[in-house]
Amino acid sequence: MIDAARANLPVGTGAASWRHRHLLDVDQLSREEVERCLDLAAELRALRERGERMDTLAGHVIGLAFAEPSTRTRVSFEIAATALGGQVVTLPFEASSTTKGESLVDTLLTMERTGVDTIVLRHAASGAPYLVARTTGLRVVNAGDGTHAHPTQALLDALTLRDALGSLQDRVIAIIGDIGHSRVARSNMHLLATMGATVRLAGPRSWTRGFEQWPGVEAHADLEQALSGADAVMALRVQLERQAGGGVPNLHEYTARWGLDERRLTLARPGAPVLHPGPTNEGVELTAELAAGSRSLIGRQVANGVALRMAVLSLLAS
Ligand code: ASP
Repeated sequence: MIDAARANLPVGTGAASWRHRHLLDVDQLSREEVERCLDLAAELRALRERGERMDTLAGHVIGLAFAEPSTRTRVSFEIAATALGGQVVTLPFEASSTTKGESLVDTLLTMERTGVDTIVLRHAASGAPYLVARTTGLRVVNAGDGTHAHPTQALLDALTLRDALGSLQDRVIAIIGDIGHSRVARSNMHLLATMGATVRLAGPRSWTRGFEQWPGVEAHADLEQALSGADAVMALRVQLERQAGGGVPNLHEYTARWGLDERRLTLARPGAPVLHPGPTNEGVELTAELAAGSRSLIGRQVANGVALRMAVLSLLAS
């Protein structure tokens, strides 16, 4: 069993406590707090690789409430919580009393009353985690709310980029595609700006409009300009489930104009890595070869999701 003090873990060690009760979005975090979270994730990743047992969450009950589909986020939160000795309970939304008309807040209050102390919530309504944080005694981790925010995705992306680039200071990160419907893009824009990077956005005009106002963000009408000299490139999934009215005539036209392939990537810095939060629409946002190729960090993003979520759960528990 790993000794928490030796492992510099935040629970019961007297280490500086974390001032946040919830993780609703990354805009609540200072640069120092982001660095602390990423450092802890790297440390936990190493401990896990060495097969160390950890008990930071012993006595805690973590509820997983996913009202929208998820693979990576749900699985990695479950593995993260159990790797730290926590108990995990999953709310099966489609088989829960929400189908009898019970409200989200009453449903989660029920989980709280049965002993859950931390809820990991994904919901189609932007703002749902904020409502739960205000109206229950639960610690709340936002696992993606509508088009608004996905803080743990942005943090694991930052960890993956930091591993690859060393530092995010003064780096140029191009984010390509369906910005308008993407909670991943919004959280990344906040976080990358906090970390001193410049974000270049490009995609169909109706999906980038308005984002040129964001601090630290440049919006480009042209894919080539956005890619030019970029230190890393992140493609976003076209959010077909959120396309009331659509932003592009069809996926084929999207790929022809905005899809990433080896040829287009020659515009970026040589060897610039490629990211995608997943799942991909296969062959749409980037070619299958690129997704599986040596520049792709997509697998690293998924793997880092576990350590990063271990870090977040540990910090909130402290
Ligand atoms: N998995 C990410 C999310 O839940 C990205 C996506 O679905 O496109 O937002």
